[in-house]
Amino acid sequence: MAKKTAYCSFCGRTARDGARLIPSPIDDSHICVDCIASASEMLGFTDLSHESEQEATCRRARQASGTAGTRQTKKVPAAKEAPKPSEIKAFLDQYIVGQDMAKKYLSVAVYNHYKRLDQPDDADGVEIEKSNIIMVGPTGTGKTLIARTIARMLDVPFTIVDATVLTQAGYVGEDIESLLTRLLQVADYDVARAERGIVFIDEIDKIARKGDNPSITRDVGGEGVQQGLLKLLEGSIVNVPPQGGRKHPEQAMIAVDTRNILFICGGAFDGIEQAIAHRLNKNFVGFSTDPAARRIERDSYMSFVAPQDLKTFGLIPEIIGRLPILAHLQPLDAEALRRILTEPKNAIVRQYIKLFAMDGVALSFDEEALDFIVVKAIEFKLGARGLRSIVETIMMNPMYELPATSTKEFRVTADFCREQLEAAHFDAKAI
Ligand code: ADP
Repeated sequence: MAKKTAYCSFCGRTARDGARLIPSPIDDSHICVDCIASASEMLGFTDLSHESEQEATCRRARQASGTAGTRQTKKVPAAKEAPKPSEIKAFLDQYIVGQDMAKKYLSVAVYNHYKRLDQPDDADGVEIEKSNIIMVGPTGTGKTLIARTIARMLDVPFTIVDATVLTQAGYVGEDIESLLTRLLQVADYDVARAERGIVFIDEIDKIARKGDNPSITRDVGGEGVQQGLLKLLEGSIVNVPPQGGRKHPEQAMIAVDTRNILFICGGAFDGIEQAIAHRLNKNFVGFSTDPAARRIERDSYMSFVAPQDLKTFGLIPEIIGRLPILAHLQPLDAEALRRILTEPKNAIVRQYIKLFAMDGVALSFDEEALDFIVVKAIEFKLGARGLRSIVETIMMNPMYELPATSTKEFRVTADFCREQLEAAHFDAKAI
């Protein structure tokens, strides 16, 4: 009989998960060293006299968030062992269709980031500076997916935060520092690990300055937030509320050094093409009545996006200066959407085939059915995000009915897709 893998009876981790296991003298059970430490803490056995105030705050935050006992200390890779840019790109290629320029820029930036973490303390006076990244491109083109996939590969704490919830101190909303709370939480309040993590700030375009003159009205969600964000981006020690939200005076804070945190910002920057066109001093035919011509123009202008266009859009120059890597993402055309359906490692079609295989049903999609799904996604302007909801609607009835039957094979045709969408009134819902 195969030997069972030993695991901690309290947190469930095995030696492969990094748990140091101590066997029970009377049966097959084990306990890991981390669970012994948390149990001692809970019972007050641990000698906490040497614990610093910061450590005590982290411990309490860990206990309050219910993660005590599952703490794992994973190592952040040093540059020598960090994957090379071409390897990072090859990994991204498995999950993200197209967007070669953005994938390449991010691969290099992340690799350099790790080299920077590892830089020797030479007396040559050369200090490699941090290169935060900004990705500009229409919504649903893969910005978050790229950031998330990179983080998965590097196994570093990674969090996505939405810039729209942040407001200037003193106003309703969340303090800017609270975006590091999420990072601390995913790092299980291991401050050293969080300090080398990656933060993806989504919808950065939504905190653009409104109007040209900032002094006329208070711009609570705009320039004030950008100023606050600047502090984090350029690298400083900030006090982070352990449970997020608003800071208040009695609350103990966790000091986090942001010098080595990589910030990746993303935004759709709707309408930035006009600024690009204006700069290029071309006649912007975006006002053309022909929608096809308009799209082509929009697509081609986007590839000329430059830092000064972000400034025209309303980002303050200091922020732009702290985001030196500017990558753009292309809108997804029919061919890209078609590839997204089937090619990525966890492509939607593959997921459904797996789901059906678990019930012993061999699922297949006709080429025409896939073309039909893409046409619908474009027709309803749903982009890549819409592919899933369309396929989900089409597959709802078979998913409901087949498990109770003896069907062993199911073929999805274009006619079947059409029928299912009509029956579900998808057209009316998608408008
Ligand atoms: P955004 O650019 O708004 O951050 P996301 O990265 O969240 O968009 O994309 C939304 C979803 O669309 C993803 O989860 C993924 O399923 C799909 N998707 C978007 N772009 C791509 C792409 N280039 N390759 C593969 N899937 C994509």
